[in-house]
Amino acid sequence: MDKFFLEIITPEKTFFRGEVESINIPSVGGACTVMAGHQPMVFAVEPGILTLTADGVTKEAFMSEGFVEVRPDETIAFSEAVEWPEDIDERRAQEAKERAEEMIRRNRSASEYKLNRIALQRAFARLRVKHHGDAGWKD
Ligand code: ATP
Repeated sequence: MDKFFLEIITPEKTFFRGEVESINIPSVGGACTVMAGHQPMVFAVEPGILTLTADGVTKEAFMSEGFVEVRPDETIAFSEAVEWPEDIDERRAQEAKERAEEMIRRNRSASEYKLNRIALQRAFARLRVKHHGDAGWKD
């Protein structure tokens, strides 16, 4: 399968840099798959599961809010946070989930509700990636 160059950058580090066959990214309009030769575009990322296939091996990672630029020569993804399953602190994600659920129950302003919904989405996605990773699902 044809490959393309991918770079995934967070405020802290370059999470990934190299050739891949495909990526599937959680976007605001639904999951978006990018393969070699994809038409140039930019889209917003919402917290969820990033799937990346390189050298025939598919891996999952948690990906937070961000955006992706698909260019003819490379694809660049910027995100607040991207984590492999082994780097996810499950207890922290569980606590973040409970905190967000409690805040949603208190039901304050619409803007607070929105922030807490996104925090809950991050926590759920981290827990899902962590559990898939533990099960050896990615290989
Ligand atoms: P929390 O409320 O626990 O901080 P959050 O979803 O608000 O969760 P983020 O803003 O997405 O956290 O991330 C802030 C930093 O903390 C990033 O560097 C991210 O990689 C790291 N981080 C957050 N939650 C976890 C986690 N459960 N495991 C590992 N790293 C995490």
